[in-house]
Amino acid sequence: MAEIVLALDQGTTSSRAILFDAGGQILATAQREFTQYYPKPGWVEHNPMDIWESQFEVAAEVMNRASLRSEDIAAIGVTNQRETTIIWDRKTGQPIYNAIVWQCRRTAPMCDQLKAEGFDKVIRDKTGLVTDAYFSGTKIAWLLDNVPGARAKAEAGELAFGTVDTWLLWNLSGGSLHITDVSNAARTLIYNIHTGDWDDEILAKLRIPRSLLPQVRSSSEVYGESVLFGAKPIPLAGDAGDQQAATFGQVCYQPGLAKNTYGTGCFLLMNTGEKPVPSNAGLLTTVAWRLGQNQPMIYALEGSVFIAGAAVQWLRDELGIISSAGEIETLAAVNDSNGVYVVPAFVGLGAPYWDSSARGTIVGLTRGANRQHIARATLEAIAFQSLDVITAMLSDSKLTIDTLRVDGGATKNDLLLQIQADILGAAVERPAVTETTALGAAYLAGLAVGVWKSTHELSRQWKIDRTFEPSIGDDQRQTMLMGWRKAVEKSRGWI
Ligand code: ADP
Repeated sequence: MAEIVLALDQGTTSSRAILFDAGGQILATAQREFTQYYPKPGWVEHNPMDIWESQFEVAAEVMNRASLRSEDIAAIGVTNQRETTIIWDRKTGQPIYNAIVWQCRRTAPMCDQLKAEGFDKVIRDKTGLVTDAYFSGTKIAWLLDNVPGARAKAEAGELAFGTVDTWLLWNLSGGSLHITDVSNAARTLIYNIHTGDWDDEILAKLRIPRSLLPQVRSSSEVYGESVLFGAKPIPLAGDAGDQQAATFGQVCYQPGLAKNTYGTGCFLLMNTGEKPVPSNAGLLTTVAWRLGQNQPMIYALEGSVFIAGAAVQWLRDELGIISSAGEIETLAAVNDSNGVYVVPAFVGLGAPYWDSSARGTIVGLTRGANRQHIARATLEAIAFQSLDVITAMLSDSKLTIDTLRVDGGATKNDLLLQIQADILGAAVERPAVTETTALGAAYLAGLAVGVWKSTHELSRQWKIDRTFEPSIGDDQRQTMLMGWRKAVEKSRGWI
């Protein structure tokens, strides 16, 4: 039996394909960037054909590179940039407009209007999301309102909406599948995470006909097959949004297990089990995954830190005290930050402060403070901001945390992870395979076709590269935290 799984990881700037063996090890990877379109300030689009073609090409390339044929592949799993919205013609398969990317702000006025009417409360209760232009719902409404003829065709059932997973599965299956999974549906603003169905009240409000919408399936089951890779059809068997896939790839299968991705910003997700947890701190309540149609929905809390690795870039590009991001680890290798705190509120502060008038600040400077202290305080700031989000998650969910699993570009930095363990007062685990997003998609697909028998088996085979244990006492932690809180206060309400 074939035991190799092909993961398709369709990201915001590139499409990637990775082959995993039954041990969860990487056999080969291929990657291709594609064009970003910025037609107006604040607008971001992709060409859906670029998305599909680049994704198909890297999939074919990675199989070539590993000298594999379709009969060697047990299943394909898909993971994707979330919320990005595509509408196409069911008959021709042609998109009616470019993909509107999650970052695109064109529907911010529509969101303001919904908030002014108080409809954001309905949306929060039913979808777990805040009313923001990120999510797909208002992007669908915009397309129906602005593409000539779109609304009439939609009413006649001639069009199909999809997030990027839906678009890829449609094309992979030669147009026979129009489906999404629960984790992607949960990012659309029109999916009720409690009933597990598209929500008629929200659909009516946004004037979106149900006939546009894909069928919502679980994240791990055989949906159909692809005949595009050779003589033997390959099962299409896994689907999850990128952050949820990464959480699955980090084997966060019990409530209280969480992952943090340290990139430009940080993305945190915590498994909260079979009950959706509403947030008092402005975090998002979302679906993590569902492992088969008869399995329970698993939920998560999600939060993000706007400026994390970007603060390291700032030290490099604006202050010039390091010449590469990696250099910060040597520069910051002093015993402590000498009382210096950096609050990188360059674009305001997110959860749990939600203060758009905050701006960046450095406090606690004395005559002896130097660039080493500023470098260390910057790493500490990444860890403090992550702690703030985790603290909010724990308070919302009443859960406790004993390990945090980490991935992303900045987790090469051992010092950052040691600081995170110290500040969190819990172990930080860096996995051996850091391609956690693709690994999660592979796991979901492999589970559905029997490459792996259970999540229990996945937990056992998943390997840690290094664990960082807290090395400071509670007193010292509390003192540092008190300093951070004071520093945050200084940054608030600045403009
Ligand atoms: P993204 O996916 O958001 O583009 P990546 O996961 O590629 O981000 O990570 C890049 C970010 O990590 C950059 O902001 C960079 O400053 C930061 N970074 C890279 N290496 C290090 C390091 N050794 N220490 C701290 N930060 C780092």
